[in-house]
Amino acid sequence: MQNKEVRHVLGISGGKDSAALAIYMKNLYPEMDIEFYTCDTGKELDETYQLIRNLESKLGVSIQKLYAKTADHDNPFDFYHNLYGGYLPSSNARWCTQKLKIEPFENYIGNTPVISYVGIRGDEEREGYISTKPHVQSIFPFRENIWSEEVISKVLKNENQHLLRVLYKDQLTNNLYQRAIDILKTPLSLSYIQSQKQRALMGLGIKEFNHVVFQSLKESSFPISLVDNFPLLNNEEILIRDDIFRILKESGVGVPAYYEEIPYEINGQTGKYNRSRSGCFFCFFQRKIEWVWLYEQNPAKFFLAMEYEKDGYTWMQDERLEELINPDRIKQIKEDFLLKQQTAVKNHRSNKLIDILDAEEEGCAACFI
Ligand code: SF4
Repeated sequence: MQNKEVRHVLGISGGKDSAALAIYMKNLYPEMDIEFYTCDTGKELDETYQLIRNLESKLGVSIQKLYAKTADHDNPFDFYHNLYGGYLPSSNARWCTQKLKIEPFENYIGNTPVISYVGIRGDEEREGYISTKPHVQSIFPFRENIWSEEVISKVLKNENQHLLRVLYKDQLTNNLYQRAIDILKTPLSLSYIQSQKQRALMGLGIKEFNHVVFQSLKESSFPISLVDNFPLLNNEEILIRDDIFRILKESGVGVPAYYEEIPYEINGQTGKYNRSRSGCFFCFFQRKIEWVWLYEQNPAKFFLAMEYEKDGYTWMQDERLEELINPDRIKQIKEDFLLKQQTAVKNHRSNKLIDILDAEEEGCAACFI
């Protein structure tokens, strides 16, 4: 069972992946004492608040709402926005993530060792740090490799070779054990990098790899070293985007409505748009086509976003929202996006906005997972 000194937490961003992870963990590991939380900026989409209510009622859990510390318990985003003199956050100056997501989370967990479950999918190539505090360890249950980069680099260090050989002896049949020895005795170098060694070892068995990693961390300062049994060691499932939508639908929690693709007509052709991610309705990570979606599908929120653009501060570097809603500009944005979708199809790639954006950028793990 779990050790009481370690807290297990799972952050709900309002996006599909973290919601699906909450359902997945609750269904698969009902015995685990997982704390669910969400950091509320005060500017989330209505669909996010609905998703949280749905999760609470379907899972029978309470999701802790975390807020940034504000002097007068004002709306968190607006409080800091005023404090910074109207300076809007941007991808280069992301005070919003730090103040409204990361700091409330770090205040919530204090100094207790924490294992944080993060919904990066098996079809994504990225890490998802929510916090860089040493007593917070991320685990990625949807991926083939559930461990974070820092864990893998510690475990696969050349000087760890002997310990890994000893641990693998208990895990593999003789034949496979000989192959493990061959892999382990090849030192990491420029021509044999960490990811190659990791893949080679995982090729001998995912469960076996997990057990070896778990045991090898016993003397480390990672929070997992305090856990006696960890049920995820035996989980070999890899979940990709279709699985996420399936979990949300089958559970009855449902997919947030903003993911639904809506057709639009342009020059006699039909494009489709939607919003690709959770997060604040005015998030600067939005692409032009998503701003157009917000203007046409949720104009009240769009005009609220517009009100923040003053004194030279804008959500996008090259264009004010007032300019973006010029009909000619909207037409051009829709044409450009349709062309992108058509090119994606020609290149045998998905033409969904969510896939096009995933291929272009990483976004924000604290807000969008
Ligand atoms: S969703 Fe966007 S605007 Fe909101 S906190 Fe995250 S990065 Fe900042």
